[in-house]
Amino acid sequence: MAEKQRLLSGMRPTGRLHLGHYNVIKEWVRLCDLYDSYWFTADWHAITTQFDNTDSIRANRREIVIDWLSAGLDPEKCHIFHQSDIKEHAELHLLFSMITPLSWLERVPTYKGQLEAFKEKGKDIATYGFLGYPLLMAADILMYRPSGVPVGEDQAPHVEFCRELLRRFHHLYNCQVFPEPQPVFNHIEILPGTDNRKMSKSYGNFILLSEKPEDVKTKVWSMVTDATRIRKTDPGHPDVCAVYAYQGFFNKAEQPQICADCKAGAIGCGQCKKRLTECINDFLEPMRERRAKYEAQPALLDEIIDAGNTAARKTARETMGMVREAMKI
Ligand code: SF4
Repeated sequence: MAEKQRLLSGMRPTGRLHLGHYNVIKEWVRLCDLYDSYWFTADWHAITTQFDNTDSIRANRREIVIDWLSAGLDPEKCHIFHQSDIKEHAELHLLFSMITPLSWLERVPTYKGQLEAFKEKGKDIATYGFLGYPLLMAADILMYRPSGVPVGEDQAPHVEFCRELLRRFHHLYNCQVFPEPQPVFNHIEILPGTDNRKMSKSYGNFILLSEKPEDVKTKVWSMVTDATRIRKTDPGHPDVCAVYAYQGFFNKAEQPQICADCKAGAIGCGQCKKRLTECINDFLEPMRERRAKYEAQPALLDEIIDAGNTAARKTARETMGMVREAMKI
């Protein structure tokens, strides 16, 4: 049987994951059956924007691995590792930094935008490390010589940056070390935040995958509904209601009836929220159980990460052998 092609992706460990991340993990779970998959916590990337507050990074990277496993990622079908445990990433980043024109980094579309966004919040992140983060990202990806990288459409330029870089590397050293990775576009259903904006930690409009049942209830009760509805008998507009959007995800079977009842003024928002709370808690319960298992057995989590690190390190060492050979260093 032909070997599976390799695929890689990572997440910054910025804290526990929320429902908005669930669909990404669901996509990862699907991809594990198709590819030899590597998933990593991008803990060095977290430092580029929180270099002044690194206390939580180590704990957060464990937390997100527990969230991945709780949400259904099967460690038997993929490799899960921490970026900073594979020091070869730093070496490849350094070598790439020697061959990358400064102008390539300065013209990365998100660079200036993020600098400005942080400046508005009173933080200057104009460091050497932040300027070079696309190179670290390229090193993360190319280290595993993957055929694909799962991305949202807005992230496709990062994959293109990798391809430009590897072409330059091949041209300079007259070699063919890296296959050109293709973007593998995620087909992900987007869940809005509880206030109908994009779900985001900074807006505080999220429900965690590890949320306790009573906290789910509180958050659902605070969700944005159709503001024009005062009484239960007022005809509603489900299309402007966050609760209704969630019903479509967590309570698909009953959503058409809820739509009809809402429009006819035959269901109250309280009743609708109560049903949604039950459905979200049913959905999260198996995740809470899996989380409890990993929290109770830290050694089990260590084993999974050790195995992932070992597989990642083996591939990384092979790649660095080829890179050093090509550069004759
Ligand atoms: S009944 Fe449900 S769908 Fe209709 S406005 Fe109230 S919460 Fe939203």
